[in-house]
Formats: sequence, structure tokens, C-alpha cells
Amino acid sequence: MLKSGDHVIFSSVTYIAVYRLFNELLNSKFHIETTIVDTSDLNAVRKAIKPNTKLIHIETPGNPTLTISDIKAIAEIAHKNGALLSVDNTFASPFNQRPIELGADFSVESLTKYINGHGDAMGGAIIGKKKYLDIIRTQLQINLGGTISPFNAWLIMRGAVTLALRMKQHNENALTVAQYLQTVNGVSFVAYPGLESHPNHNIAKAQMFPGFGGMISFGIKADHDTHNRFISHLKVITPAVSLGHDESLIVFIGENDERQYLYPDEFHNGFFRFSVGIEDIEDIIEDLKQAFEKENLL
Ligand SMILES: *Cc1c(COP(=O)(O)O)cnc(C)c1O
Repeated sequence: MLKSGDHVIFSSVTYIAVYRLFNELLNSKFHIETTIVDTSDLNAVRKAIKPNTKLIHIETPGNPTLTISDIKAIAEIAHKNGALLSVDNTFASPFNQRPIELGADFSVESLTKYINGHGDAMGGAIIGKKKYLDIIRTQLQINLGGTISPFNAWLIMRGAVTLALRMKQHNENALTVAQYLQTVNGVSFVAYPGLESHPNHNIAKAQMFPGFGGMISFGIKADHDTHNRFISHLKVITPAVSLGHDESLIVFIGENDERQYLYPDEFHNGFFRFSVGIEDIEDIIEDLKQAFEKENLL
């Protein structure tokens, strides 16, 4: 959709490769101007608009801080100024959030995550109007690649059948875990859009339904090594990247993350990104509890 000379606004909190695409590749190699904006702040979005702004790309909830941006309001800002809006909907999944119904032009999904749901296949999808998708199909899929293999597509279609059942359990488990974490002495903060303490809980409530997804970030009052030891104590929850699998996955995002400067203050000492799985909730809570106990964090 973009050509050299165009301008893009994108969320300050996005999947790492999206950050690098906009912040390092498109601007330095393809002469596309890009501006990083905290898109949870509508005034900041309005201020960043330029005459050549052609695209706003937001991620909500944002990976990894769970920052929430107002899809409907940003769609209005984009369209009033002749720009398109694309939304990375991976953290919410289409079960909890439908960007197109809220006015977005594109909904982008990593199928690798909740839609496949079993951590065994990779894929992606872009949902939008036919006139735009035709461009992607005829120009990009053929000429640049980025086409899914039939076997991966088949696995993802099998996985997608249970999306609704799994998401109900992810939503319920994550809310319970978030509420539990808030009661733990050694926990410094909990970021989950379903908590009233989330700075944009009201916007999340308005655009996410029936739940807030399975992703939580939280901090502990501890040094770097304690974070790593905490993770090594876990028995049910697996320390691994990726997310949206049936099983619970956790990663420690340390103080050296290249985008630390874009995160809210509480994230600056390192934090955990926790993809809450569909296991029995008592098993998840007990696992966290025994790990907190071993590091005197309870
Ligand atoms: C993982 C992820 C992606 C990329 O998906 P892959 O299928 O791993 O390429 C994009 N956006 C978000 C928010 C993600 O979490």
C-alpha cells in the first residue's frame, strides 16, 4: 500500500519484527517516513499526522506491554486524513476483538498463535477489503513469496476449529492469574487489560468481547538472576518464547530489550510475558506459588 515518500505512523509497542520493519528497513532502505507513536494517546496520534500519512499501524493489546489503543477512534482519525488503518489483532484473537467491525481497513493475525493454538505450525493472515487483498495476492504473494505451505495451512485449519473453546478458557484462566498476581507481595505490577488497574481498561472493555485474552505481563521485586531462577522453578509452565499455545509459556524480557525506552517505567527492570494456557487453573496457580515461595516473594 506504500511507496517511497509516504508516511506511516505505528504503535510504540509492537511485535519486535514490526518495529524493525518500520524503524529500520522501510525508512532507511525504501524512503518511507515512519513515526513511532504511543497510540494509546489519541492526541499523540492526531499530532503525528502529516499530509503524506498513508497508513497507521497499531497493535492492541500490544506485545509485550499489553498497551491498549482505541481502534474506533484511530480509524476515524486515519480516514479523516486519507490514511488506512491496520491492526495487529494477534494478542486478542478474533474471538475477543474484531478490528474490521470497529472501522479498521486491515486486521493482521499471526495464525501461529491462538488461531492454530497448538504451537506446531506457522502462518499469517490479513483480513480486509477485496480491492486491497487482490493487490497483496497478485503483487506480493506471487512476486515476493510469503505464502503458506499446504501442510501448515491444514494444521492451522484443524486447530482453528476449537478456537472458541480454547479462548474461553484462556480468558478465564488469564483473568484469574492476573487477579492472583495482584495479591502476591513480591509482584511489582501486573499488566492485563481485564484488570480495573489497567490504564485503558475502559477502552479494552468497549472493544474486546467476550474477554481480554490470555496474555499477561508482570514484574517482580527482584534482580536479574532472581528472575531467571524464578523461571527455572516452574514445572507446569514452560519457559519459552511464542504464545497462544494450549500450554502455558513464559519469557523473561530483560533490561537489555532494545525497545525498553518505549515501555512505561514499571517495565524498565525486566518483566515476564506470560501466555496463560488452558491447563487446569489450580495447576497454574500452584506452579506460580511454589516458584514465588522458593525465592521468598510470596
Ligand atoms: C508472534 C507475533 C507476530 C508474528 O507472527 P509469526 O507467525 O511468529 O511470524 C506478529 N504480531 C504479534 C503481535 C505477535 O505476537
